Amino acid sequence: QTIGALLADTAARWPERPAAVFREQGLRFTWQQFDDEVTALAAGLQALGLKRGDRLGIWSPNRVEWVVTQFATARIGVILVNINPAYRLSELEYALKTSGCRALISAERLKSSDYLGMLQTLAPELAHCAPGALKSARLPDLQFVIRLGEGRTPGMQNYGAVLAGGHAARAGFVPPAGLDCDDPINIQFTSGTTGSPKGATLTHHNVVNNARFIAMAMRFTEADSLCIPVPLYHCFGMVLAVLACVSTGAAMVFPGEAFDPAATLAAVAEERCTALHGVPTMFIAELDHPDFARYDLASLRTGIMAGSPCPIETMKRVVAEMHLREITIAYGMTETSPVSFQSAADDPLERRVTTVGRVQPHLEVKLVDTDGRTVKVGEKGELLTRGYSVMKGYWGDPARSADAVRDGWMHTGDLAVIDAEGFCNIVGRVKDMVIRGGENLYPREIEEFLFRHPKVQSVQVFGVPDARYGEELCAWIVVKPGAECTEQEIRDFCRDQIAHYKVPRYIRFVTEMPMTITGKVQKFVMRDRMIDELG
Ligand code: ATP
Ligand code: MG
Repeated sequence: QTIGALLADTAARWPERPAAVFREQGLRFTWQQFDDEVTALAAGLQALGLKRGDRLGIWSPNRVEWVVTQFATARIGVILVNINPAYRLSELEYALKTSGCRALISAERLKSSDYLGMLQTLAPELAHCAPGALKSARLPDLQFVIRLGEGRTPGMQNYGAVLAGGHAARAGFVPPAGLDCDDPINIQFTSGTTGSPKGATLTHHNVVNNARFIAMAMRFTEADSLCIPVPLYHCFGMVLAVLACVSTGAAMVFPGEAFDPAATLAAVAEERCTALHGVPTMFIAELDHPDFARYDLASLRTGIMAGSPCPIETMKRVVAEMHLREITIAYGMTETSPVSFQSAADDPLERRVTTVGRVQPHLEVKLVDTDGRTVKVGEKGELLTRGYSVMKGYWGDPARSADAVRDGWMHTGDLAVIDAEGFCNIVGRVKDMVIRGGENLYPREIEEFLFRHPKVQSVQVFGVPDARYGEELCAWIVVKPGAECTEQEIRDFCRDQIAHYKVPRYIRFVTEMPMTITGKVQKFVMRDRMIDELG
């Protein structure tokens, strides 16, 4: 099934039921209204001359226009290119160039970041060209820039006008011939946790099926409503949230353009949401919010924590304090559409808070050692996945694609252990494993241990080069608000509890960790800073 057909089916089945709420924009849609909006934009974009296989970028925080664009592009076979709202000039240029975007839909601004101004700097030709006739030296493929909001900008079209034209022509909309489930439909950049983002190319088939399995594991139905604070430009928002809702008729509730813990809690309480998604840092921010107790979260039942290692303590707290008794952890990566492991709502609670669950249906997985040999049950190895959800490749980068996907197997770069019953634990990234004097150390294990210290709010452990041991461990710690903590206290806490070689050689207290906008900690940035500090 294509993404466009998936939505049409849901709209036909539940035309009058609530589809989406955009709280910051003050907008509500039923499935029929939402589907009409999508068809209108599809007609509008088609009228501009956009064709199957063209790339259209979207650079916007979580707004209605984002979701409508996601489905409208799919309806006309245009490949959607997700552009991170945190990107600035050079990253935007990189994303538009590597994907060869012919059109871009851009928000006006996000907080202090002036999107339209940046675009005018990148393509000064906009000032002198007719809308839709851009010829830019730096962005040779880009022809259309469509801006959100009411204002007018030289050389740009207005989203509202394109949509209005589409509404007028909606009744006569005919989708292009030959749309196929195996067409590429989306280029999603990876988070850039380990370096520069890579543009994974995904098909309808990849993401639609992944969303169905995700929704099944959560026992989603049309009676559910999901609060979505996770970003749309990332597969967490686009697949685990939006497509999972559309595949079951569950309502989508968007608290706002960018993540805010209080707005998220208010959305759950006021809209009576039954489900909530988030990366671990989001759940921690919600739980630790000073007004947490003021919000009635009793309507919650399920949701997904994913994106980075989910601390067991945090999982226990969301079950006990947020009523998320059926919460599941999912593990995945952009390149596999994204989810490959997910616990199921009916797995035992103990397994759900401590593992990423079992492999999704219709996927194969194996764990291999550094020589590519399959390891024994219970041993650590690099996780390889194969099946329907593996990407077509990195857009325009055959060399990196061939390295990532070999013989159909996606090399995830993650280290995992799978027990005899099939439950999986992600123990870290291959790149993050620290080899100190020949000993393999897993930062995740040490982080889980230090996180239990009562004054520690968050902790990251990574390796830094060392002349004597090859690598040494370093811990960065953020202490809880109001608490004071010394290095000695941390060392005392470790004594007799973990082996001496696992106690970080360097301990630093910081006020925040370097993060991607999805809330993922960028250890490579920390490592670079420590290397500078240590000389
Ligand atoms: P890049 O590939 O650009 O360095 P990234 O790998 O963080 O960035 P994503 O595709 O967004 O980009 O994230 C996938 C990665 O996130 C996985 O490879 C894994 O390391 C981590 N991850 C996802 N879910 C989990 C989870 N439940 N537990 C532990 N790690 C997870
Ligand atoms: Mg990755």
